[in-house]
Amino acid sequence: MPGSRRGVWAVSPAADQEVGVRAILDALPEVAEADVPLARYSWLGVGGPADVLVVAGSRDQLELAIRLAHQYGLPWHVYGGLTNMLLPDSGLRGIVVLNRARAVHFEEGYRLQCDSGAIVVQVAREAIERGWGGLTWAVGLPGTIGGAVVNNAGAFGGEISRVLVSADVFTPSGEVSQVPASWFDFRYRCSKLKGAGERWLVLASEFRLRAADSDELRAKAEEYSLRRTRSQPPGRTLGSTFKNPPGDYAGRLIEAAGLKGTRCGGMAVSERHANFFMNEGGATAADFRALLDRVQSEVHAQFGVQLEPEIEILPEG
Ligand SMILES: Cc1cc2nc3c(=O)[nH]c(=O)nc-3n(C[C@H](O)[C@H](O)[C@H](O)COP(=O)(O)OP(=O)(O)OC[C@H]3O[C@@H](n4cnc5c(N)ncnc54)[C@H](O)[C@@H]3O)c2cc1C
Repeated sequence: MPGSRRGVWAVSPAADQEVGVRAILDALPEVAEADVPLARYSWLGVGGPADVLVVAGSRDQLELAIRLAHQYGLPWHVYGGLTNMLLPDSGLRGIVVLNRARAVHFEEGYRLQCDSGAIVVQVAREAIERGWGGLTWAVGLPGTIGGAVVNNAGAFGGEISRVLVSADVFTPSGEVSQVPASWFDFRYRCSKLKGAGERWLVLASEFRLRAADSDELRAKAEEYSLRRTRSQPPGRTLGSTFKNPPGDYAGRLIEAAGLKGTRCGGMAVSERHANFFMNEGGATAADFRALLDRVQSEVHAQFGVQLEPEIEILPEG
């Protein structure tokens, strides 16, 4: 029923959903569109249509889209750069919000305030130019601050959880609450919000960086960028497919199993970095899942190691 408040997980009958979809298209005419192929926005270039896509350019638009989704009982999903998601070929029902709320403030005392849609690479670059240390490891990290917090992204020994102080989150009951970093229950490439995309939303984050020498930070950034260029293949990919198992590397195991170059449809294991799966043209989510299963079972058969996905895989609807 339009206007009533429902539980976040409740889905209205189809007629109400149509009213909700219309309300969102009317409230956000510049940024909301019906029936949009998500493959256009995903780094992998895979994913069926969203019933409605909202490309939110500000925190207000982000909050409005989610409030309307709640109000009309529509399922919703929020993504940043879609750099770490295998989206289903069947697409996603309800509202998909791409978060491009990108305000960033460098404040006294090395306090950094970022909207969750801020691009990590841009924030890290600006920190380097200002002589603020703590985010240099993130110079080549694709995606947004929100995605990095939810995934506890990290590289070259750095991790977002080490510099995060607090975040503003939108709770399942629709309130905005400030939570400390410890609330996220961070683990390796994971937080308690990973996979909780229809219940919680990170709106903004505060980080504490430290004084450092810009030239030294620049040199480090250069080194990290070079290491990425040398080891990682360019192209349509989700980055590391599997987590590194304790004491080993997923890429090393996949390569040792003789799986470099293995193909399923349009997906292939990269020849340069065996933990990267590449969309070589026209790949589907089904191709990706088939390749993932094949690699997982072959590595298990040969080495007894069960590789766990680092990427997030959404089921077909
Ligand atoms: C070439 C390449 C290299 C990579 N290298 C690294 C690396 O070195 N280290 C590393 O850790 N990762 C790496 N990744 C993976 C990816 O870049 C990170 O996981 C990144 O932090 C994801 O951010 P995103 O904005 O794209 O998130 P998305 O892929 O858009 O979303 C990921 C998850 O976060 C949730 N989410 C996103 N924003 C919000 C929000 N505001 N509130 C609540 N939930 C939210 C989504 O619902 C989803 O569950 C790489 C990926 C690629 C393609």
